Amino acid sequence: MSKYDYDLFVIGAGSGGVRAGRLAAQLGKKVAVAEESKPGGTCVIRGCVPKKYLVYGAEFGGAIKSAQKYGWSISDVSFDWSALRDSIQTEVNRLSGIYSNILEKNGATLFNERAEFVDAHTVRLQNSGKEVTAKTILVAVGGRPWMPEIKGAEHAIMSDDAFLLDKLPESILIIGGGYIASEFAGIFAGMGVKTVQAYRGDRLLKGFDADVREIAGKHQNMLGVDTRFNLSPTEIKKTSGGYIVSFDDGTKIGTDLVFMATGRRPHTASLGLENAGVATDKNGAVIVDEFSRSNVKNIYAVGDVTDRVNLTPVAIREGVAFIDTVYNDTPNAYDHTNIASAVFTQPPIGVVGMNEAEARAAYGDKIEVYTTSFRPMKNALAEKEQRCFMKLITEGRKQRVIGIHIVGDDSPEIIQALGICVKAGLTKADFDQTCAVHPTLAEEIVTLKARAS
Ligand code: NDP
Repeated sequence: MSKYDYDLFVIGAGSGGVRAGRLAAQLGKKVAVAEESKPGGTCVIRGCVPKKYLVYGAEFGGAIKSAQKYGWSISDVSFDWSALRDSIQTEVNRLSGIYSNILEKNGATLFNERAEFVDAHTVRLQNSGKEVTAKTILVAVGGRPWMPEIKGAEHAIMSDDAFLLDKLPESILIIGGGYIASEFAGIFAGMGVKTVQAYRGDRLLKGFDADVREIAGKHQNMLGVDTRFNLSPTEIKKTSGGYIVSFDDGTKIGTDLVFMATGRRPHTASLGLENAGVATDKNGAVIVDEFSRSNVKNIYAVGDVTDRVNLTPVAIREGVAFIDTVYNDTPNAYDHTNIASAVFTQPPIGVVGMNEAEARAAYGDKIEVYTTSFRPMKNALAEKEQRCFMKLITEGRKQRVIGIHIVGDDSPEIIQALGICVKAGLTKADFDQTCAVHPTLAEEIVTLKARAS
């Protein structure tokens, strides 16, 4: 008989926590999972899933316009935000139910309440006040939107709120140039909201390839987003009709709604990690080794709470690796290199591997860069200016492909398959030997010619 109530206690029923909890339960371990919100985590409840539905919703506006060039007559077009919001919430609730079921069906106990550390083997459940013990504890509490403490910050919404707006504003000011700011600027503009995106840098999407950043900005403008650069907010003032936001250079922008998309932070405040002696970094992230183990030997952490690569599929892989390490006797240090990812702007962006600046820093003049830019045939007939851009980067004499960057429709789907090629270490010759699928966007990736320097 174990001296603990549970073999594994998971705090947080998001992507990483649920995967680890379910797998441990399937292995016959006695598992409990605590979740203070709805099961599903950021991805299902207030992230990837509802966001992608909003993108789908926003894209219909452009599609309806294009449809007329394809022979359709469409009259009486209007958009009902509350209808879309409510159908998304119905779907989110359905998915959340699946997350609960999957745990319970496999024998795990789900506590719908917050859990906090009492010590390294004990957590207290907040509603009931009950204390339970576990041999191993997995922290999978994710992250939360964060904003700078400027004057009037309480007037701004953040991404969690954006899914549940009572009504669409006539105008919105989105602050930030990252994933969430850029995706939501496209969403609101696509729904007909007068959208300004104000960013403190000089091009959107820091960390992405320079050409991709340039093109992403142009595409935002084509969608109707008014992008403003080199602006840091200093104050938000409520007025009778909305808000006025002041920026560091004296610029003032009036708007109906202010949306701060200035990043996310690990959700560890008041989790009691100090009671267990768990070390965190300056942003509150649990510091872990390559096996997701914290400095306390029975406490592990996966997903956004560790602030490594903050993506749902990564949290899931880290959860699986944790199970291998702790219960399957096969230590698994999940490899965080060459993770393909996408930004769901309109059109979206798909990337895997190094950008050009990173490749040059790593391999100097041993890299070669192949690019193309073209108007996709669907846009040509629809008389849309939006272009597709692709960049492929190789290193060395063998021309191993080390980076691919695509801006264009379906690029997230395309990059998933190309991620396999980069992970497998394929070369440009392998790409060139592959016959094109015609007519597609993706075929361009097997016919790329070196960029004229
Ligand atoms: P990001 O880090 O991508 O963007 C935050 C933005 O806020 C940056 O432009 C940053 O500027 C700006 N910012 C930070 N602090 C301030 C400040 N004090 N004043 C003004 N601007 C500021 O975070 P997001 O919240 O957009 O996304 C969080 C993470 O979630 C992403 O990194 C990603 O891992 C994940 N995510 C993934 C998605 C996907 O896969 N499609 C979608 C959404 C989120 P600067 O660039 O100068 O630092």
